[in-house]
Amino acid sequence: MKILFNNIGKSTNYLKNIELLYSNYTNFRKKHFSNLCLAHLQKMYPTSKLMLTHSATGGLEIIAELLHIQKGDEVIMPSFTFVSTANAFVSKGATPIFVDIDKNTLNIDIQQIEENISHKTKAIVAMHYGGHPCDLKQLRALCDKHHLFLIEDAAMGFGNHYNNQSLGSIGDFGVISFDITKQISAVQGGLLLINNPDYVKRAGYIYHIGTNREDFMEGNVPYYEWVDVGSKYQLNELNAAVLLDQLERYPEIIAHRNIVSKLYHYYLKPLELQGKFRLMSDANLENNCHEYYLILNDQFERDNLSKYLYNYGIETMFHYIPLHNSAKGRSFGHRELPNTIEISETLLRLPMHTELGETHIQYIVNKIKSYWEE
Ligand SMILES: *Cc1c(COP(=O)(O)O)cnc(C)c1O
Repeated sequence: MKILFNNIGKSTNYLKNIELLYSNYTNFRKKHFSNLCLAHLQKMYPTSKLMLTHSATGGLEIIAELLHIQKGDEVIMPSFTFVSTANAFVSKGATPIFVDIDKNTLNIDIQQIEENISHKTKAIVAMHYGGHPCDLKQLRALCDKHHLFLIEDAAMGFGNHYNNQSLGSIGDFGVISFDITKQISAVQGGLLLINNPDYVKRAGYIYHIGTNREDFMEGNVPYYEWVDVGSKYQLNELNAAVLLDQLERYPEIIAHRNIVSKLYHYYLKPLELQGKFRLMSDANLENNCHEYYLILNDQFERDNLSKYLYNYGIETMFHYIPLHNSAKGRSFGHRELPNTIEISETLLRLPMHTELGETHIQYIVNKIKSYWEE
């Protein structure tokens, strides 16, 4: 048996949509599939201004531009995150202030944020690890107290909620990723959510390569012209054609992934009780569709288990190399972030996709069990 870590899943609609696109040039020009995707997404995020981007990375770059991030600014974020979270701000000259994560939630430690706020701080990035929500109520209160912007890196958060509100739609700004590694995928794509109305207008300029194309499309100006900085952030139509099919099927995709994680949880619980590893909290399980992970007792055990499973055709993955300890990250100064290091060394992600059935899960679980029996 060969079990991939991730899989985009089969659908007859990808090719159908792409054929429709090529059948008439106007479909490209009118952004046929992007508009259908947006209509779909707007129902999920009724209070946000939405922009489909080529990636969540692109969305974060628009946010950094919107906030006029520059040299001397500081942005507080976890070290246990993807490079894009930091790069969007660092490439504008900001200093990333890396703080540790909470060992249970794997999200940014709010206590440590407060200790790191200075007069240079502009924003806090709340990255929802595995799509599990940060405590946004507490973060909002902290941001309001210190006049900071709250940015949600909800790259892994599509379909997950915080107090019945969709992740990404709660901070001043949010991004979601539709990369092939995420639960809903355009192969490559992203969504920018502007939740602070003061920034909608300029976001449109930056998104449209620094032009007032939106004003033109709304019939407010006779032609569009260069009005601001910007770049080509749009999602392309081929990716939108794939994304639409995924969005139309998202309830079943998310439900399938949620069932996979519940099966893992159920079957692996006895081993957790024997102290072999730690599972994600039961509370996080209800809201889980991005990934399923184990936290082993040490790095040796994690790496060994991963190799063992690989020999049985099961692909598993660890996750981030802590940013503060990376080649670039070290240039921002030394930090002691013990939880980040520990989780980075001991976390192991199991296969998670819609091609997995109960027999696959049982096979994987049995191999995990037999690892300790041999
Ligand atoms: C995947 C990911 C990104 C980047 O998303 P892209 O769409 O690939 O640019 C950013 N932040 C986090 C936390 C991610 O997991």
